[in-house]
Amino acid sequence: MKIDWWDKRCIVCVRQRDTGQEGRQTTRGHVIPESIGGRLWSPFLCKDCNSKMGTLEDKLLGDVSVIGVVEQLLPELPPKVGLNIHSRAGYFRDDEQHGRLYAKPRRDDGGLELSTMDEKTRRDEDVRAEVRKKLRAASVADDQIKAKLAEYDAASPGQEFEIVPGERVRKPISVAGQAFSRTWDEPIVPAVVPLGIAYLFLACCIREEIYEARFDAVREVLLQTIGGAADAASKWTIDWLRTPDVPVAALHGLAFEEVGGEATVRVVIFRWLVWRVHFPMLEPPMKRTHYSRYLETGDEDANLGHIVRA
Ligand SMILES: [Zn+2]
Repeated sequence: MKIDWWDKRCIVCVRQRDTGQEGRQTTRGHVIPESIGGRLWSPFLCKDCNSKMGTLEDKLLGDVSVIGVVEQLLPELPPKVGLNIHSRAGYFRDDEQHGRLYAKPRRDDGGLELSTMDEKTRRDEDVRAEVRKKLRAASVADDQIKAKLAEYDAASPGQEFEIVPGERVRKPISVAGQAFSRTWDEPIVPAVVPLGIAYLFLACCIREEIYEARFDAVREVLLQTIGGAADAASKWTIDWLRTPDVPVAALHGLAFEEVGGEATVRVVIFRWLVWRVHFPMLEPPMKRTHYSRYLETGDEDANLGHIVRA
């Protein structure tokens, strides 16, 4: 769903868009990232801000809770959304001989691909070809190359192998048949993620009013954080409402509503990750304004009409 936007200022940095300067081009600003199935957007961000907001998107998509939810919902999600997030999951296995081995799902088919901490895993045949090439380059006799390759073949996975003095390779470890368990040590979504989503949704609700000076504080926090500073948004009033007994579902929701006399935006991802972001500089709306997107059917349900405030 597109929200029309006539003002030519970016809603995050408030600079004029489309001035011909690099980075100021108008882009589609998705309220909930498109990569997790968000469809509500408006042409209200400059290219610079939109690409920086992408770092928030990465934090959301890489979060263990999001990845865990997506795995439960895979059959109901559009394949692209499922694979996109599933491929960010991390798995490990502690192996007596090799220490901790890591695996990541492949982006194309979701199958596990082994990786170690510091190097991308190579295929055994590629490493073997490298061994042969280096032996040839060192003018080793053919029968000795044959013997050396036989030695390589007999080496156990993960073992260091000396090709010629000073030249070593590691024999690749095959992931086949190994059981990996999930890595649960990734960070939980930082506060700037729901703040960013809530701010963009608020703009969809109150339109041009978003440029008023009273929202400078939100913009400042967003600009600081997406500019690489520490999570300044953690000081913002954001309630974390996730409850373990709510079942996950293939839907996202947003609502601009009044809670305890205060204007808030509720951000709901996969029905299960729920934040309530407070905007104390704003009068609360008389009537709740909402938007939902059902990922399985692609349906959008919204009431983003004229806002009447107290
Ligand atoms: Zn901008």
